[in-house]
Amino acid sequence: MNSKEGVKLGIAIAIIAVAIGLFVYRTRAAADAADDSKTFWYCTQSNKGFEVSGPDYDRNVRTGRKTAAPQQEGTISRARLSDDLVTQAKSPYSGDWTGVPASKCGDCGEIFPLKTDAQGENLCPKCNWNPVTQTKGPSNLAPPPEKPE
Ligand SMILES: [Zn+2]
Repeated sequence: MNSKEGVKLGIAIAIIAVAIGLFVYRTRAAADAADDSKTFWYCTQSNKGFEVSGPDYDRNVRTGRKTAAPQQEGTISRARLSDDLVTQAKSPYSGDWTGVPASKCGDCGEIFPLKTDAQGENLCPKCNWNPVTQTKGPSNLAPPPEKPE
C-alpha cells in the first residue's frame, strides 16, 4: 500500500466513523425524546389515572372503533368512520383497554379524564385547573352557555 492509498483509506474510515457516530447520536436523541413524551390516561373501570411513556405507547395505546356493531353492507363514508374512532390505553389496573384520554393537573397532580364530546371545558375535578390555559378556572375562550330559546 502506498501513501496515497493509505490517505484514501484513512478518509474512508473517518467518513464511516462519523456516519456511525451521527446515526448513534440521532437514534439516542430520538429515544430520549420518546422517553419524555408521557401521555396520561384514566381507567374507567378502577377510576384511577395512569401514564404511558413513549416507548410503551405503541404497545399500550390503540385507536379502534367505538361501536362493535358490524356494518357488512359495503360503503360507509370516511367521515362516519372517523366519528366512531376512539383511542384507548391498556390500564395497568384492569389489564384491559379501559383507559381513556386524560390530563394531569399542573397544580395538584390529579389525573382526570378528558371530555371527548366537546361539551364544556376540561377542568381538574379537585382544584379547577385548566389544562388549556394552565391556570385555574374556565378560560375566556369558552363559548357562552346556550341561551334559552
Ligand atoms: Zn388539580
